[in-house]
Amino acid sequence: MSDLARKNILELAVYRPGKPIEEVQRELGLKEVVKLASNENALGPSPFAIKALSGALSGVHYYPDGNSYRLRRALAEFYGLDPAQLHLGNGSNEIVQQLSLAFLEPGDEALMPVPSFPRYQPLARMMNAVPREIPLISYTLDLQGMAANLNRRTKLVYICNPNNPTGTIVHRDELERFLEVVPAHCLVILDEAYFEYVADEDYPDGLDYLRLHPNVVVLRTFSKMYGLAGLRIGYAVARPEIVACLERVREPFNVNLLAQEAALAALSDREHVRKLQTLNRDEKEYLYREFSRLGLEYVPTEANFILFDAERDEQAVFQGLLRRGVIIRGGFDYRTHLRVTLGTRHQNQIFIEALERVLREDN
Ligand SMILES: *Cc1c(COP(=O)(O)O)cnc(C)c1O
Repeated sequence: MSDLARKNILELAVYRPGKPIEEVQRELGLKEVVKLASNENALGPSPFAIKALSGALSGVHYYPDGNSYRLRRALAEFYGLDPAQLHLGNGSNEIVQQLSLAFLEPGDEALMPVPSFPRYQPLARMMNAVPREIPLISYTLDLQGMAANLNRRTKLVYICNPNNPTGTIVHRDELERFLEVVPAHCLVILDEAYFEYVADEDYPDGLDYLRLHPNVVVLRTFSKMYGLAGLRIGYAVARPEIVACLERVREPFNVNLLAQEAALAALSDREHVRKLQTLNRDEKEYLYREFSRLGLEYVPTEANFILFDAERDEQAVFQGLLRRGVIIRGGFDYRTHLRVTLGTRHQNQIFIEALERVLREDN
């Protein structure tokens, strides 16, 4: 029956997420498993969010507010925006899909870095659009290479900043030069899923470009710094005309009731965000030191994960760690590199001990 499906759908690979903890426990009979595979929040959600969730549970027989009225207002106030510039999604993943649905005609091109967030490419192909993948240079987006590939058919350009899985950023001056050369018929999507983690002073805040560049779309999420990955909620900020297009392809109740309540509460907990920023800074330093001690190279990061070079087949290292109850992520376009999410000190120590064993075994 699969011959009934659209041809380009059959060519798409099914997304393989990081292994869930329970699955690894079940398969390997392990009691304690540490998951540092999907850049989830090391401290969990804000206590404010947990309290809001408990309060909202008894109301889940109602449909959610399809317009996310209160959350949209809160975000607008938080950033000093017009609520009409905000679009909520069931994770920012869903918004990547909505951008494809709303803007890509067959034959249009979508320009993207590689390796980067793995959803841009299949969601362009889903629409019979043509993905143009521009390789990173030294783990960093090649904006000059991307600019050189802009053409009449280019409709979407993805800039993942910081880039997943490398953790590198595009700096303000580079981004500004790039935005100057992007034609008006092409949307520039700044995927800022790790915005709240960045410490570099030369990091551009995508929202600063909305006024000057009407074709900019900024994506942010509650999945990372706000610790709500399991509830699925993210948002886009763009001109109201662009938001209106996304609204047309949106499911009426795409953002669930619990996600809206939790996000609203999480947004007001600045203390939780500061705590995480401090933890991330300290754990980054800890892992840098440990990688150096083990003689491994790593890519300095502005996000809550680090790409490192294990100097051995990445799948073998992944499996070795898995057997020891530590889930990280490999399978990128590098043969010997893996990505580890920054956890708590305890989790990071377990990871380093396991890694040390795996590396020793192999020698
Ligand atoms: C984690 C991540 C997202 C967030 O996805 P959600 O659907 O909001 O959970 C988006 N972009 C990148 C680059 C990411 O790493």
